[in-house]
Amino acid sequence: MEDGSVRDLFRRAADHAARFRETISDRRQGPEVSYHGSLDAFREAVPEEGTAGADVIDTLAAKAEPGLHVMTGPRFFGWVIGGSHPVGVAADWLTSAWGQNAANHYASPAAAAAETVAAGWLLELLELPRTCSVGFVTGATVANFVCLAAARGEVLRRVGWDAEARGLFGAPPPTVLIGDDAHATVFSALQFLGLGNDRVIRLKTDALGRIGVSEFEEQTAKISGPSIVILQAGQINTGAFDDFAALIPVARRIGAWVHVDGAFGLWARACPPKRVLAAAADEADSWATDGHKWLQTPYDCGYAIIRDEEAHRRAMTIAASYLPPSHEGERDPSHFVPELSRRARGFATWAMIRHLGRKGIAAMVERHCRVAGRMAARLSLEDGIAVLNEIVLNQFMVRFGAGRPDEEADRLTQKTVERLQADGVCFAGGASWRGRKVMRVSVISWLTDDSAADTAADAIIAAWRAVSEPAGS
Ligand SMILES: *Cc1c(COP(=O)(O)O)cnc(C)c1O
Repeated sequence: MEDGSVRDLFRRAADHAARFRETISDRRQGPEVSYHGSLDAFREAVPEEGTAGADVIDTLAAKAEPGLHVMTGPRFFGWVIGGSHPVGVAADWLTSAWGQNAANHYASPAAAAAETVAAGWLLELLELPRTCSVGFVTGATVANFVCLAAARGEVLRRVGWDAEARGLFGAPPPTVLIGDDAHATVFSALQFLGLGNDRVIRLKTDALGRIGVSEFEEQTAKISGPSIVILQAGQINTGAFDDFAALIPVARRIGAWVHVDGAFGLWARACPPKRVLAAAADEADSWATDGHKWLQTPYDCGYAIIRDEEAHRRAMTIAASYLPPSHEGERDPSHFVPELSRRARGFATWAMIRHLGRKGIAAMVERHCRVAGRMAARLSLEDGIAVLNEIVLNQFMVRFGAGRPDEEADRLTQKTVERLQADGVCFAGGASWRGRKVMRVSVISWLTDDSAADTAADAIIAAWRAVSEPAGS
């Protein structure tokens, strides 16, 4: 590249990015074109000749933007999606520009050091044992995988089986207990690990999706041999928490490894008024959580946190003669994750914690929970709208046509969600809960405040009215 062109190129990308972010609140809260529209924009033959970098970046922005979902906007309530905070994004740009392979401390001292420090901060903020090891992964899906890999190895090691070396062929079969309303990705992790996504004991859950304590006691009484218990902090639809204080001691009686999927809910522990929800979660053996949800880091970022560092390392070992050994006091990022080469995720995590601080994180979590309650209260005042769950955290479900026959309410709920998405003032998606259609609302963007929530609630009510009282009727 010619002199100066790197700076021009980076400035250009920064200008596109800033323009996108600056207009985010005023944009339609949804993509302007569908997947097929985007495909038409991108599809062309393999270019024979190269193109100047600046043109490539301008063209990329022009082609991509109509097909982008405004996930970073203040009125985005779909799935459970953090706001990709500008400070995290800027740190992530530097991460890319520095081009560090973060595998080990020798290759990139700064990448390894930022992870070490950020890992310590995470343990403090989440109030987990300070001696836990932390793997910086792509998200809670892989964090669940890493934690359950360590669980699998350790429960089998205790009965004399080396799963890392011998695999599962001929191994004593571990029993896996999991709540009926666990997240789909936990079942995927079990599938990747050869434990089977269906070869589990599924425990019945209550109206909020929490494992029933007495059923858990009954089930565990029947178990002998290696076992893994999977609990949840923050159910994807209700935000509810399993009763860790009651369940973990029962799991301990049978010597089970206890894993907690806390993709977003574990952050209740970083917020003093909400901490009680996840009380005793620190008694578990491993925890999966996300950076790209409540901590607002850009994608992708999650953390696999494990009490037993040796079990963590054994499960993720990569040994090769050309890789430097690590010594006492040095930490290699790759010892705690499945990948060898990967981006230096510690920088964005470090930047977000530094930016928000302990108080900022606590205040944000508290605000989101309060805003969720405010939105739900406003919606509940409207005839025909029902909020289905007690709001313990930041998640709630809404049903439209409440009081009408189930099938009709299903249809009205679906239609209202479609109408809301077409209106584009805010975004929320549909789901099924207990066999019935619902709309899910997740309040988790750093930009969402009372006023954004009020605008969104009004838009939801307007969509419902348009569906329930069609013009002319
Ligand atoms: C989001 C989520 C996951 C999956 O996390 P990813 O970051 O999408 O990989 C797992 N469990 C729960 C409870 C979640 O909310």
